[in-house]
Amino acid sequence: MAGTVVALGGNALQRAGGEGTWAEACAQMRRAARTLAEVARAPGVLVVTHGNGPQVGVLLRQNELGAGEVPSRPLDVLGAETQGQIGYLVQSELTAALRRAGVARSVLTVISRTEVRGDDPAFRTPTKPVGRFYTESEARLLRKGRGWTLVNDPARGGWRRLVPSPRPVRWIEGHAVRELLGSKLGSRWIPVVAGGGGVPVVRRAPGVYEGVEAVIDKDLASSLVARELRTETLAIVTDVPGAAVRFGRSGERWLGEVDRAELARWSRDGEFAAGSMGPKVEAGLEFLRRGGRRFVITDIPSLPRALRGEAGTRVR
Ligand code: ADP
Ligand code: MG
Repeated sequence: MAGTVVALGGNALQRAGGEGTWAEACAQMRRAARTLAEVARAPGVLVVTHGNGPQVGVLLRQNELGAGEVPSRPLDVLGAETQGQIGYLVQSELTAALRRAGVARSVLTVISRTEVRGDDPAFRTPTKPVGRFYTESEARLLRKGRGWTLVNDPARGGWRRLVPSPRPVRWIEGHAVRELLGSKLGSRWIPVVAGGGGVPVVRRAPGVYEGVEAVIDKDLASSLVARELRTETLAIVTDVPGAAVRFGRSGERWLGEVDRAELARWSRDGEFAAGSMGPKVEAGLEFLRRGGRRFVITDIPSLPRALRGEAGTRVR
């Protein structure tokens, strides 16, 4: 399908250093929505995905604090809650921005499940930090009592829970969204999908899926969404204007237009940090390898220019 999947990073949704109020989230999304509405003028489908790290952290904390009164919900349910919360925010702000821009399109959030394999090796080695920091003695109790894996990060405040980050293999609601977008007035819709990488589920029987305690990388899930919808473009929007080599060191160089082989080479050389830029580049390379036409990494202000080939890191 002609069109673009835009993946919004946590930073496009929430400004670092704020108090974390809902009003701040609305203000931040309002800014992003203005740019998205501009992008939505172009013909072709537009699909939005997003991260949920900070929002899931908040729900985990609310669960902890309320546990004496209200039974806690598992991580997959919290993931679904963040899709609802952020989807609501995107629907509200983007609908208003589209109206102001005179673009006749409507926003629709789809609670999305992402299938992962039960035998994914990631389940044996949790790598993804979630939630708050714990003291040494709290960590010991959580390890014994709940079987959690925790990692010590003394520089940042102590112990943190690690959960598995298995690879996304299938976006379960993908066929429904493909059908919607492929219908006669399909491109009138802007679906918000696979938030936080999608709710991780494992298939137990035909049509029977079970949520698991894991977090799926939103960049890899966005690549899966773009592949399943066969969009031409995958644009990953973050808080830096693109990918750089020698990032943060002397001789730093921001990559503009590069080809796939060059990006893969820089990636093999370890230029893109694991857990931040690394998965974005991996997601883009996978998208291009499997038939995608164009991959872009940029920030919100540069997004329209990046899609015109004038800013950001662009790979064909
Ligand atoms: P998001 O929430 O958008 O996924 P991340 O923090 O995961 O954001 O990824 C973006 C961050 O990646 C940037 O803020 C930057 O600090 C970091 N980064 C690591 N390596 C690079 C690189 N080679 N070029 C650009 N940014 C990089
Ligand atoms: Mg990230």
